Amino acid sequence: PSDIFPGRQNSQGWDWTDPRDMNIIDSARSKTQGTDLSAMPLTVAAPNGGTARKVFSPATPNDLVGTVQLASADDAATAVREAKPWQATASERARVLLKAADLYETNLGRIFALLAREAGKTMPDCIGELREAVDFLRYYAGEAGKLTGPARGRFVCISPWNFPLAIFTGQIAAALAAGNAVLAKPAEQTPLIAHLATSLLHEAGVPLAALQLLPGGGEVGAALTDQPLVDGVCFTGSTATAMRIHQSLAQNGNAAAPLIAETGGLNAMIVDSTALPEQATRDIVASAFQSAGQRCSALRCLYVQEDVADGLIEMLRGAMDALTVGDPWDVATDVGPIIDAAARDKIAGYIETARAEGRVLHEVSAPKTGTFVAPTMLRVSSIAEMKEEIFGPVLHVATFKSHQLDQVIDQINATGYGLTFGLHSRIDDRVQSVVDRVHAGNIYVNRNQIGAVVGSQPFGGEGLSGTGPKAGGPLYLTKFTQSAGAPILP
Ligand code: GLU
Repeated sequence: PSDIFPGRQNSQGWDWTDPRDMNIIDSARSKTQGTDLSAMPLTVAAPNGGTARKVFSPATPNDLVGTVQLASADDAATAVREAKPWQATASERARVLLKAADLYETNLGRIFALLAREAGKTMPDCIGELREAVDFLRYYAGEAGKLTGPARGRFVCISPWNFPLAIFTGQIAAALAAGNAVLAKPAEQTPLIAHLATSLLHEAGVPLAALQLLPGGGEVGAALTDQPLVDGVCFTGSTATAMRIHQSLAQNGNAAAPLIAETGGLNAMIVDSTALPEQATRDIVASAFQSAGQRCSALRCLYVQEDVADGLIEMLRGAMDALTVGDPWDVATDVGPIIDAAARDKIAGYIETARAEGRVLHEVSAPKTGTFVAPTMLRVSSIAEMKEEIFGPVLHVATFKSHQLDQVIDQINATGYGLTFGLHSRIDDRVQSVVDRVHAGNIYVNRNQIGAVVGSQPFGGEGLSGTGPKAGGPLYLTKFTQSAGAPILP
C-alpha cells in the first residue's frame, strides 16, 4: 500500500530563526557535556576478547567523549556465522525503516551532540547529515516494495568517519530494505554515533541477528570480509582499501559476491570567463571548504580561464577571510576541525611543502588547539601535478586559455577518478560539450558540487571513484538482491 511504500519525501529543513530549534541544540550540548558515553559490539553472541579505547573530541582534545569496546577478529567470525537474513515481508521491513527514520528525528539532540563532539561536525553539517540519514531510511523503505529478487544473505557494510551517520545508515538501510543480514563495521574514529544509530534501528524493530555492529579498525573489517559466508560488501572509503576487499573476496571463494564501493576522487571545477564571479566564488568556497573539505565530493582543483583568474582569485581571498574556523557548536562556524591528529598532520605537512615551493595563494587563520587546518588556496599548473586526494580544506587553482578547454577536460579525465565535477559558464553550447566530454558520476552546473540529495541526485563515481550503482538512486537496492530483474510471480 502506498502509505507503507511512500513516494519521494525528503526530510524537513531547519529554521535558524526559530528559538525552539535553537533550544534543541543548546540543551543537547549541556546534557552531553562531561558525560562519558560508551559503545560496544552489538552482536548475537557475547563479545569475546576485544580491547577498549577512549574517544576524544577533535575540536577539544581533552573532551573525553566516551569509551569503545572494540570487536575482536573472533567476534567478527562469530557474528557472520550467527547472522540471519531478515525474515520479514518487504512491507514489514519498510515499516520498521520508516519507524527508524522517525526515531532518528525525535533523537535529534543526542545525534547532534555526538556528531559535533565525536566527529567535529559544524551545526549546518549536523543538520545536513541527519536529513540525509533520514532520507536514506525513507527512500530505501520506499524502494523495498519494488524489488524483484530475493536477498543475497549476509552483507558486510564498512562506512567512513566523514559521514558517520548518513553513510553508515544509508548502507545498512539499503542492505536491510532488501532483506539481508548486516554486519556493520563503522569507522574507527566514530564508533559512538554508530552505536547510537544501531540502537535506534534495533528499537525500531530490526532484529539483532539481522543487524550486528562490530566497532574496530581495518583489522575488524578484514576479519569480516575474509569470511567465506559473506555474500556481499558495501564499502565507502579509500580506493586502495576497496581493491584489497575485492582481492579478499576472490581469495576466500567469494569472487561472485558483489562489492559496492564508493571511493576517492580528485574533483575539478572549471570556471570560464562568462561565469558570474560572485556566484562562482560562493560555490567554490562551499565546495572546497565546507565540512573542512572532508567530503569525497569536495572540490580539489579549480581551473579558471586566464582572462578572469586574477579577479576571481582576489574574490576567493576575500571570501576565505570571511570564513569562521573553530568551535563546531557555534552556529556561526563554517569550518570545523579535521577528524584526528594523524589526518591533520598529513594535511599540514602537505601545505608546508607547498609553502616551501612558494605555491600558497592564500590561507586564513585557525585555532591552535584542536585538530584544525586553516583553509588554504594553492597554485598548481595542472591537476596532473596532484598525485593523491588531500582530504582537507585545501583548494588548488590552475588557469587555462580558452582554446585549451578540451585539453583541460582530458587532463581531468586522465586522473582516472570520476566522482564529482563542477562547471560555471553561461554559454549553453559549452556547457553541453563539457558535460559530454567529462567522466564523472555527479556533474553540477552553476552551483556547488557537494551535498547530493537522496532520491533526486543519486551519488557515486566512475573509474577509480567507485563501482556504482549510485547511492540514493533507483538502481542501488537491486545490487543487494540476487536476481535483479527477475519477474514477480503472482
Ligand atoms: N554525498 C556526499 C556529497 O554529495 C559526499 C559523500 C562522501 O564524502 O563520501 O557531498
